Amino acid sequence: MTDSSSELHQDLRNAVGELCRRFPDTYWRELDAERAYPEEFVRTLTDAGYLAALIPEEYGGSGLGLMEASIILEEVNRAGGNAGACHAQMYIMGTLLRHGSAEQKQAILPKIAGGELRLQAFGVTEPTTGTDTTQLKTMAVRKGDSYVVNGQKVWISRAEHSDLMLLIARTTPLEEVKKKTDGLSVFLIDLRQAVGNGMTIRPLRTMMNHATTEVFFDDLEIPVDTLIGEEGRGFRYLIDGLNAERILIAAECVGDGRWFVERSCTYSKERVVFNRPIGQNQGIQFPISRAHVNVEAADLMRIRAAELFDDGKPCGAEANMAKLLAADASWEAANVAVQTYGGFGFAEDYDIERKFRETRLYQVAPVSTNLILSFIGEHVLGLPRSF
Ligand SMILES: Cc1cc2nc3c(=O)[nH]c(=O)nc-3n(C[C@H](O)[C@H](O)[C@H](O)COP(=O)(O)OP(=O)(O)OC[C@H]3O[C@@H](n4cnc5c(N)ncnc54)[C@H](O)[C@@H]3O)c2cc1C
Repeated sequence: MTDSSSELHQDLRNAVGELCRRFPDTYWRELDAERAYPEEFVRTLTDAGYLAALIPEEYGGSGLGLMEASIILEEVNRAGGNAGACHAQMYIMGTLLRHGSAEQKQAILPKIAGGELRLQAFGVTEPTTGTDTTQLKTMAVRKGDSYVVNGQKVWISRAEHSDLMLLIARTTPLEEVKKKTDGLSVFLIDLRQAVGNGMTIRPLRTMMNHATTEVFFDDLEIPVDTLIGEEGRGFRYLIDGLNAERILIAAECVGDGRWFVERSCTYSKERVVFNRPIGQNQGIQFPISRAHVNVEAADLMRIRAAELFDDGKPCGAEANMAKLLAADASWEAANVAVQTYGGFGFAEDYDIERKFRETRLYQVAPVSTNLILSFIGEHVLGLPRSF
């Protein structure tokens, strides 16, 4: 990193941190209790241009790199917020940018950059096939100038708060393709037209406030120009976006981890039991120190992965390792924070339990720890393929 880029990064951290201070713990706590979407926060972040960080300047974005985008999301989580409410726009947009037609990009990207349209929903997971994406059952069948979509998705986050959804569906039945990764296609659906006309969204209440839903398609008709790129190549487009997704989530976990470590330090210096601050006891101090070490180590891998990504170099191994290390480190730091706070770790008013629930997600989604280990085993270490 050059001096000027590190200065730029510090300025960016300060500016995002300042914006986040307008949304204190109480803001996130109240939303969590009501399971409500952080509408005002997302609007403020969008208006400030941060969610358009990765959109090139020619489309009205700021044309920054993935490193800068990751710093934005990290700072949101480090300030006690939850970037999960809006992170997907950053990585979903990449599919449109890389594989969309000139007309699609011109029509949509400036509106996303300007905040006129939200692209926050990504429809991949299905209830019966889960991680095994190639087996997904949702079908989009060509009929004249339209595709007719039938099927079901689950865990589709932010669908009720987005104008557009990137959907992956089968366009050629599995039995008719040579490779199981063939025959899947990606569509950009206008939710404002689709909902109520063949598409239904049902909220799913989860252990944290994540605005996630299940989605049903019942003869939903979508125009052919909603297809992104070539029909049948959707799985590859999906894979192309995964490294960015992994790195951005790793940065959020680093933000969470630092928040837990900072809170644990502050609390353990203030809380006096047996006539001494609890942080004076090495039984309390050492786990916090270890959590800090692991968060900082994970951050190095996240920086390495982001630098490779921004240089256009292969970074699949680093992006996956960053996601795994950061998700583990934030989860460890979360557990340490609960232990440090004792009973108060469970009290809603201290926010530890809320962030504990929020950061737990990243062991499972958007990709689970086992699937990352499997990627490393097979693609990095050359071990025999397991599935
Ligand atoms: C809150 C939330 C938000 C989400 N948001 C979205 C979203 O916006 N869009 C979207 O498309 N999806 C979303 N997801 C789905 C998420 O990506 C999946 O839950 C995740 O990929 C795991 O899939 P699954 O739940 O079907 O688990 P399964 O595939 O059923 O797997 C269950 C467990 O078994 C393990 N497992 C499975 N196969 C193997 C194997 N071969 N070897 C070792 N272990 C294995 C998995 O790692 C996992 O731990 C979200 C999920 C949650 C909980």
